[in-house]
Amino acid sequence: MNFRLGQTPARDWLHSRAAGAPAVAPALLLSRLLSRLKWRRRGWRAVLCMAWLAIAAPLAAQTALPPLPRSPPLPFFKPAEVLPGLWLVQGASALGTAANANFISNAAFIVTPEGVVVVDALGSPALARALVEAIAQITPLPIKHLIVTHYHADHIYGLQVFQDMGVPITAHRAALAYLHSDAARLRLQASREELAPWIDAQTRLVPADHWIDGPQTLTLGGVQMLLQPAGPAHTPEDLTVVLPQWQALIAGDLVFRGRIPFVGQADSGRWIEALNRLLALGVRTLLPGHGPASTDAAADLALTRDYLVHLRHTMAEAARKLEPFEEAYAQADWSRFEHLPLFKAANRINAFNTYLLMEQLAR
Ligand SMILES: [Zn+2]
Repeated sequence: MNFRLGQTPARDWLHSRAAGAPAVAPALLLSRLLSRLKWRRRGWRAVLCMAWLAIAAPLAAQTALPPLPRSPPLPFFKPAEVLPGLWLVQGASALGTAANANFISNAAFIVTPEGVVVVDALGSPALARALVEAIAQITPLPIKHLIVTHYHADHIYGLQVFQDMGVPITAHRAALAYLHSDAARLRLQASREELAPWIDAQTRLVPADHWIDGPQTLTLGGVQMLLQPAGPAHTPEDLTVVLPQWQALIAGDLVFRGRIPFVGQADSGRWIEALNRLLALGVRTLLPGHGPASTDAAADLALTRDYLVHLRHTMAEAARKLEPFEEAYAQADWSRFEHLPLFKAANRINAFNTYLLMEQLAR
């Protein structure tokens, strides 16, 4: 495939950011200088720092890029190295709120000898920026590609940070329909209210630079990455990344680990088929779209599949018998899944959507 390579090293970008943003750095320098001069009287240091800020801030503002919210502070953000060179940042098992900064989904990145490939952009520009900063702490190599597993808000609201850095973005073409839909526009509008200040008027929907239709291979620094469309499953545009040399799979939201999946309007029948295809790959390590990494990929793929099968089976039975949803839901056996986080928040609506789907199919 003909990937255009991004040329912006993460560190250079951070430096240009740093040059634009702070009058804080000069103030810090002055403060240190004063300490060295043994000028330790706090009052004087404070006054001089304020004076410096008053002079430096307007000058710095001329070159400053648009500010992103920095407070309230970001939730705990620390990438974990799942395998050498393969990293995961893991969001909370929760619904997106202003309090958790919409840090509810995962991003992965692959550090190769020639640069970094990032998978998913997290749920706000501030989170994406934190991700870029975290990568720069790990390697001086540039970010060369950003791959989107699907266009759900919690995975894409950080995309503009990568676009602004000149990192080429790759996604499956089926996302275009959503991107240009009222649903996407209304979702963003609602998020600007619900997730302020993390999502604001400056947050925008970002299209991919490369829209792919079928499987593609991306090789960087000797690391092979198979971009494998898996949809329509969780979404029409699901894209997974298979890393053969690690026997690893970045699964996007085909797998929610450690919580009940969000089924929404998904085609759960095809989702089950996609999970069966992924099971046949025989990978060992799995990086899900939500929840911790797994070294028993088969078990996690199977659990998500079994949940969907159970939903469809119980709701199909009810639809066939013309049983009302409330009754069917109350009678169903949820014991295998009810201990999972977000069961209360997600299971009922998942069951209801599946009931409607099964009703349609029964007609
Ligand atoms: Zn998600």
